[in-house]
Amino acid sequence: MELNHTHDASARSWLASANEPGCDFPIQNLPFGVFRRRGTDEPFRGGVAIGDQVIDLAAVSASGVLDGLAADAARAAAQPALNDLLATGPAAWRALRHALFAALRHDADATVVSALHACLVPQSAVEHSVPTRIGDYTDFYTSIHHARNVGRVIRPDDPLTPNFQWIPIAYHGRASSVVISGTPFHRPHGQAMAPGASAPVYGPCRRLDYELEMGFYVGPGNALGQPIPIGEAEQHIFGMCLLNDWSARDHQFWEMAPLGPFLGKNFCTSVSPWIVTMEALAPYRVPFAHPADEPQPLPYLDSAANSAQGGVDVQLEVLLESAQHRAKSVAPDRLSATSFRHQYWTIAQMLTQHANNGCNLQPGDLLGTGTISGPTYEEAGAIVELSLGGTRQIPLAATGETRTFLEDGDTVVLRGWCEKPGAARIGFGECRGEVLPAIGG
Ligand code: CA
Repeated sequence: MELNHTHDASARSWLASANEPGCDFPIQNLPFGVFRRRGTDEPFRGGVAIGDQVIDLAAVSASGVLDGLAADAARAAAQPALNDLLATGPAAWRALRHALFAALRHDADATVVSALHACLVPQSAVEHSVPTRIGDYTDFYTSIHHARNVGRVIRPDDPLTPNFQWIPIAYHGRASSVVISGTPFHRPHGQAMAPGASAPVYGPCRRLDYELEMGFYVGPGNALGQPIPIGEAEQHIFGMCLLNDWSARDHQFWEMAPLGPFLGKNFCTSVSPWIVTMEALAPYRVPFAHPADEPQPLPYLDSAANSAQGGVDVQLEVLLESAQHRAKSVAPDRLSATSFRHQYWTIAQMLTQHANNGCNLQPGDLLGTGTISGPTYEEAGAIVELSLGGTRQIPLAATGETRTFLEDGDTVVLRGWCEKPGAARIGFGECRGEVLPAIGG
């Protein structure tokens, strides 16, 4: 992906809030989501975040201010889900981004500014839904640091499975339980086998965890039986979001042999409202490589472009806000921070792997990256890693509490952003969810 004028760090919008330092949504970002005014029964429709506002794409489409491919793309986005927009492909996505960029620039034509003004809704006044009708959700497992950290809990002698360095491994998750950020969920019930016990017990999860992940949404996709070569993979990726793969570790570790995660994972998966497009992320692409003394990708997972810029440098952090944080009105505690650049496989490799047997990916499908843990302890993306399998108390400095796993009333907040000298800072907003008590106690 080449850089172009929409990445110009000096570009400014006529909307003052978009130019504020530290703003997640400057004119260089323009992420897509689905929204309506909160508390109304308006239909959900596509929108783009700019500053502290949302551009209503249904209103933009109706205004007639766009033409050509950009108008076609806005029309496709003026619906309760973005599947039709994602199906249009990169040329239409680019046309709409570039048209909105031109209309939002500080020097845009006065009639265009006037038309766009009428399409703005304050972000503080909207609610979101999951941005696409997700036909299928697949979760990968592509952080070697997370795999080793969790592997040590399950298999101390042999933490890394032999396939990890050869295959971007994954499991098929549940699309039905993917929820939008802000949706609370009840602590799940399930079966767990305590160490040394002779029989499992059934009850509320006692080792509830989050997983810091990113997700990416499939664009046009492939016909059944037709693989997607790695050289074409990114043409099928619309953009990225924040994703929390809530996990019941006690249920998961008992149930997952030999077929993999099931009920320990599928009670809730949270996604952020905004999808940051691959074009917006272009300034933050970084090289990808496996260490020279480790297995190198097989040819179908290897390309010069993927090696040159297959990675994405997204800064990520995990915050925990307990009931006590809220009662004391203190800021949440930061549990960890890392970057997506440390992942062992790239999003292009994940998508190509998913389709290499001819499995058909469809517009709006959601692929998760797996937990994102960096190389050091402080960069762990799940509480099971930070608490060393529940054996270490994690201090919450702001309230004096400690945690080994999540407690009822805990809200986990994921944040992501990209920042470097010479490029505009862009953000993902946040992905949050609160743990409610188990139903029936
Ligand atoms: Ca996961």
